[in-house]
Amino acid sequence: LNVLPRILLHGGAGEWRIEARRRAHIEDSLREAVEAGLAKLNKGSALEGVVAALTCLEDSGLFNAGRGSYPNIENDIEVDAGLMDGSTLDTGAVAAVRNVRNPSKLSYIVLKQTKHVLLAGDGAERLAKAMGLWRRLEPSPEAAERARSRLKEHLKSEVWLTSLRRKYRFNLHDTVGCVALDGDGNLAAGTSTGGTPLKIPGRVGDSPIPGAGYYASNGLGAVSATGEGEDILKFCLSFRVSQDLSSSADPFKVLQRILEEMRRAFGRGTAGAVVLNPAGKGAFYATTNAIAVAWGTKRSVRSCMTEREELVRFNQMMRRDLGEG
Ligand code: ASP
Repeated sequence: LNVLPRILLHGGAGEWRIEARRRAHIEDSLREAVEAGLAKLNKGSALEGVVAALTCLEDSGLFNAGRGSYPNIENDIEVDAGLMDGSTLDTGAVAAVRNVRNPSKLSYIVLKQTKHVLLAGDGAERLAKAMGLWRRLEPSPEAAERARSRLKEHLKSEVWLTSLRRKYRFNLHDTVGCVALDGDGNLAAGTSTGGTPLKIPGRVGDSPIPGAGYYASNGLGAVSATGEGEDILKFCLSFRVSQDLSSSADPFKVLQRILEEMRRAFGRGTAGAVVLNPAGKGAFYATTNAIAVAWGTKRSVRSCMTEREELVRFNQMMRRDLGEG
């Protein structure tokens, strides 16, 4: 395979209308993450590139991941993340874990150093302590205040637990995810999130579940998803997309078809994804209003927050930048 190593990542898909300054910050941070990922990828593996890019986004505090994570209904942060190595199908993930700022690093440890795929809750937190990845993680005062004021009115009623589901369908999905191809032709994928705002403690979304929030297999392709986790789980989004990516079909068309199928299945558009096929062709698509993405090779790095009307144009730009390899 003679293609340049490459990274494609997302900072979530949602309905945002974002003011210009915040938007510039987000785009800068996405580019930095691509650069951090490429620095690793050009020396190491696709998997290491994915971890480096996700770590950078978790540390930025600008996304719903790592220290920027939304608090749950009790104002605690519980994060989910997962990684997959397309060359071996090795997978490592953590779910509903507290006090871990870099769940992608912890997932890497699960993948490399344990015989398990997914560790949840206390056990994952204990592994983090043993591996030096434990550090108290509490919501920022602004995040806590946002959660409190949203909740205040609602808590007056006793039925919050059951009505939560309908009442709090937020259209904010600024989770982070990444797919990469290295110089040996190996693919990897990963996703990291604080989950949905005001989730019930213990809730686990799609992001740490292989086949739902991410999937990678050298022969098929690599996928990282974002959006309403419950919908993505039910649809097995990343696995479905990966099954069709290996064909010679245009990856954009594959992704678009499956996400539109998902929209029809649930009667609403709640998801987005980034993909790379085995030949290194990339695509991104969302059925939400917008998706934040970035991509790069050692030649160029670019990021953008794309509204739906511009998806085709930005995909074309990405393909040119990636050299259509
Ligand atoms: N998929 C994530 C979850 O449901 C949320 C997101 O993508 O922002 O946990």
